Amino acid sequence: WIIDPIVSGDRSVRSVAALESEDSLAASLYLDHGQSTAKRFGNWFKRIGGLFLRMLQMVAVPLIVTSLLCGILGLGAAEGVGRMFRRTILYYMATSVLAILTGLFVVNLIRPGLGQDIAKNAKLAAPVKAESLGDVLFHQVEALIPSNPIGALVEPNFLSIIAFTIAIGLFTLRASESTRTRILDATSAGFEVIMALTTAIIRLAPIGVFFLIAYVTATQGVGVYRALGLYVIAVMVALAIHALITLPLILWFFAKRNPLDYFKAMAPALLTAFSSASSNGTLPLTMSAVEERAGISNKTGSFVLPLGATVNMDGTALYEVVAVLFIAQLHFGQNLPFTQQVIVVITALLASVGSAGIPHAGLVMMVIILQAVGLPIEMQGIILAVDRVLDMARTSVNVWSDSCGCAVIERFDLADATPPTPAAPVA
Ligand code: ASP
Repeated sequence: WIIDPIVSGDRSVRSVAALESEDSLAASLYLDHGQSTAKRFGNWFKRIGGLFLRMLQMVAVPLIVTSLLCGILGLGAAEGVGRMFRRTILYYMATSVLAILTGLFVVNLIRPGLGQDIAKNAKLAAPVKAESLGDVLFHQVEALIPSNPIGALVEPNFLSIIAFTIAIGLFTLRASESTRTRILDATSAGFEVIMALTTAIIRLAPIGVFFLIAYVTATQGVGVYRALGLYVIAVMVALAIHALITLPLILWFFAKRNPLDYFKAMAPALLTAFSSASSNGTLPLTMSAVEERAGISNKTGSFVLPLGATVNMDGTALYEVVAVLFIAQLHFGQNLPFTQQVIVVITALLASVGSAGIPHAGLVMMVIILQAVGLPIEMQGIILAVDRVLDMARTSVNVWSDSCGCAVIERFDLADATPPTPAAPVA
């Protein structure tokens, strides 16, 4: 479904009406400029760039499954640390939801994809059918329980895949030591290979980006760049709010730490995250900064951080929401209805949990959300060109949130360990 089979026909002899019904954005260019040659080129760019997107899709399912399983199975010793586990998950979910809501607020405020020339030129896609909120939520819950997990893998239905993988991971943790070890070994080996394959595909990004951007420019005109600039601003502003206001407040309120000092202590890890765009790659540095510079115990750091590098991606979750709503604004010429935005929120949370901590993983996961709200995957071409810089920023936020999580969990853990002070004897 990436490559439109009809684009291969000879458009020059087709009627405008036929063009309109086949490919509205490209047809609009035809109508506006009457350049069938440019349009044919545009379609070839789309087909070639589509090959790159197919490769991203190819690795999405194995990457989610192995990354999630490794993250969960890495908790091998989870039995003794049930309380810490529950608190960590609670912190991760709460901060990811806050990040998502920040992204939602900013993208609805700035509306980077609306009011551009593109929206005027293009014959816009039909707005999505609005369902009641109850129906939407119920469908999401249904998707979390695949009646046929293999079918979900084949389809692929990402929500079902993520839910089933988490269930398998949690029940593997309860299995015998030898079963756990065997499954962990196999999964880690698979994860390593898939990560290497994904990294190799990502190296092709410049070529894919070139063709997709050429397609986007040919079909949507240069107005798209103004929109793209606003989109970058929206992501950056939302990331800044989360990193510089929300997380420091949490740190100060729940961990009683001075956010500025903690930020300084984490600086080497945050800078590495920024330059490498990989939370997994930064993990050793994050662990040493947390323990040696921020004074967090090894018990907390070695539990909270590896799990966080896999499942806690505030920056990625926020970015997914802004990116998908931006794409929807461009595609539909209007904001997604509220119920569809709820779907974006839920799927963005799961997509961030399923993202591996490697460069551009968020981009790979975005297909989940695009699929959930019926947006064409080739629209991703628009945002590819600016993804690296956004990836650097969101990775730093991911690592910053994991680090703040350590301080919060450590504080609660210490409070548990300290026996209550006995009441002063009455004189
Ligand atoms: N690069 C990010 C990370 O490693 C994941 C993403 O692409 O959003 O944390």
